[in-house]
Amino acid sequence: MLYYNIMLFPNPQHDHAHCTADLIARAEFTCARRGSKLTHQRRDVLACVARSHAAVGAYDIIDRMAEHGTRPAPITVYRALEFLEAHGLIHKIESRNAFVACSHSHDGLPAALLICEICGTVAELDAGAVTAQLSLAAAAQGFRAAHTVIEMAGTCGACAGGA
Ligand SMILES: [Zn+2]
Ligand SMILES: [Zn+2]
Ligand SMILES: [Zn+2]
Repeated sequence: MLYYNIMLFPNPQHDHAHCTADLIARAEFTCARRGSKLTHQRRDVLACVARSHAAVGAYDIIDRMAEHGTRPAPITVYRALEFLEAHGLIHKIESRNAFVACSHSHDGLPAALLICEICGTVAELDAGAVTAQLSLAAAAQGFRAAHTVIEMAGTCGACAGGA
């Protein structure tokens, strides 16, 4: 399924507090459903990743956490990031070694990440069909795909000066 009409990049003037509240609610729901614990620290890491829709590196996340508490050890932050990624609440951007909050619930279905090289904003496209096609082409080569990453770098509409 392709979205041509729904704008996936957030409007720069949008109410971001709403995004954060939605994501924290989703985190609570997901953890409760899976019987895992959204500890204070995991929630804090999630809130720090989700401060904007731009990709953020682990050390910037640590800096954000240190602004309102003691500076966490990197290993605890990496563990929390792994937990959040496993629960589909954040995505790792492999090409940048950075993280972004998941902007929509896609129940583990693959998403292609569109990364703006100017403002860092990341949007997600449903990539289920594309990934299935790639896996079939790989299978024809006798290759068994285990993990597929689709990332596109470019310029978002707002940075390009488009409407
Ligand atoms: Zn937002
Ligand atoms: Zn996502
Ligand atoms: Zn941009």
